Amino acid sequence: MRQIRPAAIIDRSRDQDFMREALALAAQGAALGEVPVGAVLVQDGEIIGRGFNCPISGSDPSAHAEMVAIRAAAQAVNNYRLPGSTLYVTLEPCSMCAGLIVHSRIARVVYGALEPKAGIVQSQGQFFTQGFLNHRVLYEGGVLAEECGAVLSKFFKARRASRD
Ligand SMILES: [Zn+2]
Repeated sequence: MRQIRPAAIIDRSRDQDFMREALALAAQGAALGEVPVGAVLVQDGEIIGRGFNCPISGSDPSAHAEMVAIRAAAQAVNNYRLPGSTLYVTLEPCSMCAGLIVHSRIARVVYGALEPKAGIVQSQGQFFTQGFLNHRVLYEGGVLAEECGAVLSKFFKARRASRD
């Protein structure tokens, strides 16, 4: 049975605060030379999982910020499902992460900057609206979008400069 959470329970009051936490994690990734994307998983107003993009340093193509944060959260609460939780991520999720978000039964995804090439929430498709999904995820983008995008452009600019 499909569960749709009523919009009334959505609390947006701390969206920017949690996105700033995700931004701080993105900076940690940048320090390691990873493309700076950060994510936090929030349940009942508490951050229960944190992650930043680290596929290179971890030799793990699945180590996107969302994957890392969701894994950490699931381990922290000892549950493979995270009902009622909200994932904050600085960049629009890719298809891999969108799939995991559904499998994890995350209630809501909030992202910052758009990912025009690989983003699957609104840029290259609308993953979460597909009829075959057995779990409906609420989503919204654009929270601290400028800051989230700036971290990425700064990183790529510096990387290009170091290669010249
Ligand atoms: Zn991803």
